[in-house]
Amino acid sequence: MDPRSGEMVAEFRSSTAKEVKEAVQRARVAQRGWGSSGNREVRVAAIEAMEKVFARERESMVDCIAREVGFPRSDIAASYNSALRGIAYYVERYRSMVDRDFPLDQTLWPNTEARIVFEPQGVIGHIGIWNFPFWQTMITAIPALLVGNAIVFKPSEQVTMTGLRIAELMHECGVPRDVYIPLIGGAYVGRQLVRSDCDMLAFTGGMAAGNWIANHAGVRPLLLELSGNDAAVVCGDADLEQAAMGIATGTFARAGQVCIRIKRVYVEESVAEAFIQGLVAVTQRINVKERIGPLIREEARQEVDRVVIEAVDQGSRLLLGGKRIPGPGFFYEPTILQVFDDRLEVIREETFGPVCSVRVVKDAGEAIDLANSSRYGLGATIWTQDMDNAQRIASRLEVGNVWINEWGRTLACGEYFQGCKRSGIASASERLMLFMKKKTVITHRTSEPRPSWHK
Ligand code: NAD
Repeated sequence: MDPRSGEMVAEFRSSTAKEVKEAVQRARVAQRGWGSSGNREVRVAAIEAMEKVFARERESMVDCIAREVGFPRSDIAASYNSALRGIAYYVERYRSMVDRDFPLDQTLWPNTEARIVFEPQGVIGHIGIWNFPFWQTMITAIPALLVGNAIVFKPSEQVTMTGLRIAELMHECGVPRDVYIPLIGGAYVGRQLVRSDCDMLAFTGGMAAGNWIANHAGVRPLLLELSGNDAAVVCGDADLEQAAMGIATGTFARAGQVCIRIKRVYVEESVAEAFIQGLVAVTQRINVKERIGPLIREEARQEVDRVVIEAVDQGSRLLLGGKRIPGPGFFYEPTILQVFDDRLEVIREETFGPVCSVRVVKDAGEAIDLANSSRYGLGATIWTQDMDNAQRIASRLEVGNVWINEWGRTLACGEYFQGCKRSGIASASERLMLFMKKKTVITHRTSEPRPSWHK
């Protein structure tokens, strides 16, 4: 469906449970060759080919994504390019990776050596998301394929065309068909993939589905990249003009449908009035249709409206917006609320839409406490001109990503982009390592029996 018009664009038949099972079986067979150590340069060549092939298809891919999600083309193109920049990075990292020798005390371990070897996980069941359908797909696909995994990929049902197109182009690059298998469908098909015997699950999406997966996946590696409720801390010495522009951009991007968008703003009371005025003024100038886009579906718009109405009913002050935009498509006005009660849903939970909650606090200490009082831990932003203070605040925030006088920019192809607390199963690892398992190999080089052995 095109969320700008509400019109149906295409229809697909959903994959069946049997097809999911068969896909995992085919991927398992294909992975053995693809992931073998002798095939390293073949994988590197296929991944490097993606840079060219996906760059060649940039216009058509951006069109396809825009049709399915409705965001501005410039925004989609920027994240598309950013995903491709990860290719060179990951290839370089991969080439410089070596097995690790573990030092052994030769008096205790004579003639013995230990190596830590890293191998692909096997078949990865990848369940995708729609708000960054290319970037978010590639930050798993590139490192996971490069180190030798096969992937059975279920794109979000909102972006089926984009998902299928990505798979086609991967195959053109030299990734064998059974090494990258797309499925079609929604939560049902996702659940079949969770129930399949794939070796690892990589999931991006909401907390509810993430919890379901955690409860049903059994014992196997899980990469869960889930919801966020990112706070902004606006200090008394912030450059208020910069903060207003940065926060208006960071809260309303993609109509607020970004995991790391700024969802709660804590502003020190000494500058609150000036900051709020600035934020409202910048927001009033946003051209919604051109710069931020619609909600993904009518249900999503209704949900945003419900949260806003409840917040206002419960005492929040509506400073701007708060209404659907009439006409075709699922557009909603950028909305700013001044909130006085920290128990409100709009503060406690993630609102996936263009709603910015502002809460005035007495100082940065209170802002940090309130920011941390969330069960989410994806990201946070700090707005200040005092760089030492910024680092101190950053060290106290319980999140996986912190931006200081900046928002939302990520490292090459999602490197280290992981949340903590309930925002996902975090590991401090580089992404190449996430898709490998380790094997400890201890080798004794003589035929001497050890003194302690049964004789
Ligand atoms: P969602 O969880 O409803 O759906 C995401 C994917 O999971 C879809 O492919 C869907 O078909 C599938 N799915 C749904 N239920 C499932 C289940 N029980 N088992 C298996 N698969 C299932 O996500 P949504 O609400 O459409 O997306 C928005 C959410 O995604 C927000 O909470 C946002 O913060 C989060 N998100 C997180 C990141 C990140 O990197 N942390 C990035 C983008 C979006």
